[in-house]
Amino acid sequence: MRILIIEDEPKTGNYLRQGLLEAGFRVDLARTGPDGLHLALTESPDLVLLDVMLPGLDGWQVLQTLRGAGKDMAVLFLTARDQVDDRVRGLELGADDYLVKPFAFSELLARVRTLLRRGKNAENPSRSLRVANLELDLLSRRASRAGQRIDLTAKEFALLELFMRRRGEVLPRSLIASQVWDMNFDSDTNVIEVAVRRLRAKMDDDFEPRLIRTVRGMGYVLEAPS
Ligand code: CA
Repeated sequence: MRILIIEDEPKTGNYLRQGLLEAGFRVDLARTGPDGLHLALTESPDLVLLDVMLPGLDGWQVLQTLRGAGKDMAVLFLTARDQVDDRVRGLELGADDYLVKPFAFSELLARVRTLLRRGKNAENPSRSLRVANLELDLLSRRASRAGQRIDLTAKEFALLELFMRRRGEVLPRSLIASQVWDMNFDSDTNVIEVAVRRLRAKMDDDFEPRLIRTVRGMGYVLEAPS
């Protein structure tokens, strides 16, 4: 499997290349928009890791040109900006998934493998997430439970998205804080507790089955009971 990285920050680019090579992929690295676009068009990689802010052409323009040329390889875009608008825009332009920097390499690798496994024929399931009767539409930013619309704030949506993407995994409060609030702290976890309680009140308390569970001393996990 061949992966093209389009990333202008040398440190990030080299780090990604090294990690993906070690994971057994063939890897090309481009450091500008035009170079990346050229490689994507001529080499037809299986997946493109696309930075948004790039010299020459930005990630949006690269993505738009690729899709306009009928290239349907998987595109995972990397954004430093934790902006809902950015994510929506990327998905609308035809990206398959996104990661917000900074991210753990293990997370990137998991997303890459999922996208490659999914292949080209599937119908963009990454645009919505589903666990039991809970559904999250990433494009329209809508949540529903058993077909019933649930109104969430942007933070609640981000929190629920994190839980759903990592279903079955116990998420420590510190991880939730860094992923959803861009905060790094170990002591004051009250913010997280309050937010999770509010989220549950909206999407879990009045429904069956209960999906979010508190794991004492560890954090929270979202999963459908077996
Ligand atoms: Ca950049």
